[in-house]
Amino acid sequence: MTDNAFSKAPEDWRRALPAVDRLLDHPALQALADQHGKRLCTRLARDTLSEARKGTAPVDEHTLVERVERKLAAFTSPNARAVFNLTGTVIHTNLGRALLSEPAIDAMAHVARHPVALEYDLATGGRGDRDDLIEALLCELTGAEAATVVNNNAAAVVLTLGALGAGHEAIVSRGELIEIGGAFRMPDIMAAAGCRLREVGTTNRTHPKDYREAINENTGLLVKVHASNYAVEGFTKAVDEAELARIAHDAGLPLVVDLGSGALIDLSRFGLPYETRPGEAVKAGADVVTFSGDKLLGGPQAGIIVGKRAYIERIKRHPLKRALRLDKLVLAALEATLKHYRDDDRPDQTLPTLRLLTREANDIRAAGERVLAGLDPLPAGRTARLEPCMSQLGSGSLPVDRLPSVALVLDVDSPKREVRERALRELERAFRALPRPIIGRIKEGALWLDLRCLTQDDEALLSAQITRALHAAGSPP
Ligand SMILES: *Cc1c(COP(=O)(O)O)cnc(C)c1O
Repeated sequence: MTDNAFSKAPEDWRRALPAVDRLLDHPALQALADQHGKRLCTRLARDTLSEARKGTAPVDEHTLVERVERKLAAFTSPNARAVFNLTGTVIHTNLGRALLSEPAIDAMAHVARHPVALEYDLATGGRGDRDDLIEALLCELTGAEAATVVNNNAAAVVLTLGALGAGHEAIVSRGELIEIGGAFRMPDIMAAAGCRLREVGTTNRTHPKDYREAINENTGLLVKVHASNYAVEGFTKAVDEAELARIAHDAGLPLVVDLGSGALIDLSRFGLPYETRPGEAVKAGADVVTFSGDKLLGGPQAGIIVGKRAYIERIKRHPLKRALRLDKLVLAALEATLKHYRDDDRPDQTLPTLRLLTREANDIRAAGERVLAGLDPLPAGRTARLEPCMSQLGSGSLPVDRLPSVALVLDVDSPKREVRERALRELERAFRALPRPIIGRIKEGALWLDLRCLTQDDEALLSAQITRALHAAGSPP
């Protein structure tokens, strides 16, 4: 480094930075060290000082202390941050899908805290099977003879196909060869399970004779997949479970149905779209039915497999079953979730996800009025209003927007489209940087916050945060 007049000044302020120990003597940092421990505070103070030294501008002690405090807040808050899901998609895979009920949360905490009889038969003192914890409940709720559970529905499908169809052909309608985000593509799943895919029919129409003619001595099973995330409309034909079961059984083959969402109650009573329930598929003659725990069921991530005992036994004996098994936390939450369906008068009210899905637009509008009233005056050029909108179920449940809802719509007043768009993107970013990030969606040149998933407890926090973010993002030019 050359020794000239210009490099002297920065050297001086760097030398004046306090030593780590002196910075830690600051009363604010002493208090933090008492709360979070000296080790963590020392590490963050050291990082803060070394960053300051690399900077180009002088930093005073007050700023250093603030930076340590901010680092500590980021360090100690969980990486899986709680957010406001105002996207309008209720069961949002990227935001963690279903919300658990309080009994399900308590059940997880309970088994986390204590040793539990997970694979231990308390009657005999011998070894037990962890599936026993929920099998009877699943059988009661679906009318199936037997049940088992694994990590998620994708795992349930792979395991079922691997156990029942490896080395054989699996017959599937072309209209059901779906892709469900995140690399779940039916043809790839079949390949991973060691099945050869045998496509029948066309995208929009598949007939009973298409299945019958495809059956040969290499056929292992027939598969029906719920076309979760898209709808073919118009000139369509599919073969229902009952007829497909007859075709399969005439040939001595099993029918496997991947239902995807797996609602346990008829949600069409609440104005939601009709979904085949696992019990209906079982009754129609399906030999094995798989569905998710964290979609319309409203429980933890899990893949549930119900059906005829002989097939479930084969599935449980497959070596992959051990690799895909559930842990005690999830089993406890799943059991508590299932009990709502067995015991409650109104599971649509006691399960949070179902409560959100069945929430009436009037109720959402009332929440919107309260949020709007709770906003401080907005910066110039910003407007907020309520608008009707449509929420969707999400996560490969029915694809079409169908649930009437209400959104808080945040707009930017400017005749120039680029100005509006830039301001909206900035606002979205400011929303994501909040202590409880707000996730909405940009639509028709405005930011839409669908209030369906906002709980009453969180309304005041939402108003305060919106005000804060709008002021942080400033007025549009
Ligand atoms: C969602 C879905 C899956 C995947 O289930 P995960 O629980 O996400 O693993 C598989 N099949 C269908 C039809 C689905 O809708």
